[in-house]
Amino acid sequence: MGSRTDSLQPLDASKLTYAYTTTPREVPDAKSLASNCKTICTDHMIAVSWDVENGWSTPELKPYGPFSLLPSASCLHYAYECFEGLKAYRGYDGKLRMFRTDRNSRRLLMSAERISLPRFDPDELEKLIYKLLSVDGAKWLPKSRAGDFLYVRPTIIGTDSQLGVATPTEALLYIIVGYMARMDTPTGGKRLLTNPDDMVRSWVGGFGYAKVGANYGPSVLATQEAYRQGYHQVLWLYGPEGDCTEAGGSNFFVIWKRKDGKKELVTAPLDDQLILNGVTRRSCLDLAKDRLKDELEVTERKFTIGEIQEAAADGRLLESFAAGTAWFITPIALIHHRGKDINIPTGPDGTPAEITGRIKGWLGDMMYGRVEHEWARVVPEKEVN
Ligand SMILES: *Cc1c(COP(=O)(O)O)cnc(C)c1O
Repeated sequence: MGSRTDSLQPLDASKLTYAYTTTPREVPDAKSLASNCKTICTDHMIAVSWDVENGWSTPELKPYGPFSLLPSASCLHYAYECFEGLKAYRGYDGKLRMFRTDRNSRRLLMSAERISLPRFDPDELEKLIYKLLSVDGAKWLPKSRAGDFLYVRPTIIGTDSQLGVATPTEALLYIIVGYMARMDTPTGGKRLLTNPDDMVRSWVGGFGYAKVGANYGPSVLATQEAYRQGYHQVLWLYGPEGDCTEAGGSNFFVIWKRKDGKKELVTAPLDDQLILNGVTRRSCLDLAKDRLKDELEVTERKFTIGEIQEAAADGRLLESFAAGTAWFITPIALIHHRGKDINIPTGPDGTPAEITGRIKGWLGDMMYGRVEHEWARVVPEKEVN
């Protein structure tokens, strides 16, 4: 590290300036939210620009709204874009909480590094997220909406306007907050279609482990086809054996009895960098290892669609679920693979079966303040009238 790097301004949440909106918007009711396909965002956002000469500028909290970019901005041409997805949960005790935000902040740094966007101190990002929620939380997720959440989207883009493919010399970090529909309970459980033979979501040596925009747009073609055929998501397999990786934008779990009779909770490993290191995934694994250790083994390893088919045929397949912030914990009732259905037990009408239900319950209790846990932290809020 040379002296030039040392003289750059670090990201510093304590410098945040506040320019409140003069045209506050009305909070939509549940009905108008359901009928609106555009994401409705809260009154404010936070933006911080960066350039290679000066480092991070003063963070600004300001009215939510469009910003200007030159048509040659690097994010528009070479996918210099990475993001995070978190939720702020309105607890049954009236408090607003966020869940393991330190992990999201560090993951955004990892994603940024993968695509040559600037580094920052993840603790400072975390502070900025809390500051934005403490301004907009009380109005946009009032105490009357206990059990509901807001969706938080920190983003970094390359903004320099040079068309040569090169390390971005200018960037913008921004945080927006909006509404997202509840998606953890499709009637009858989630139905997955395995990816077509000629498409993968990620590959060894690629960037499937980073939350970079370039991973998502191209996956929608397969997702559209799954919808058309009446499925909810794509189960992405990888390699000649059909290793199970992820279910759409969620991590994928199976609970089965192994051939040796032992019950196992299994999910894909991180070491080949094919999958996203989900915060929900980690939390499920941590909880299962801690609280279910007498009942089952918890394993991160490669497992194939063939193993699932075999377990189903033997009557050893017990449960399956997808886990992620957006869809939370969703039971999977069926996987369709190359012309054949694999049916998976769920509770009545596709509700979570036993283990899935317990894990979902534990996490939900932390998020919505039914139990206090170090993973869920209260956002200090400004009171509104
Ligand atoms: C974001 C994401 C997940 C879930 O991660 P969480 O941290 O649990 O929200 C899983 N898979 C993919 C591909 C994702 O983009």
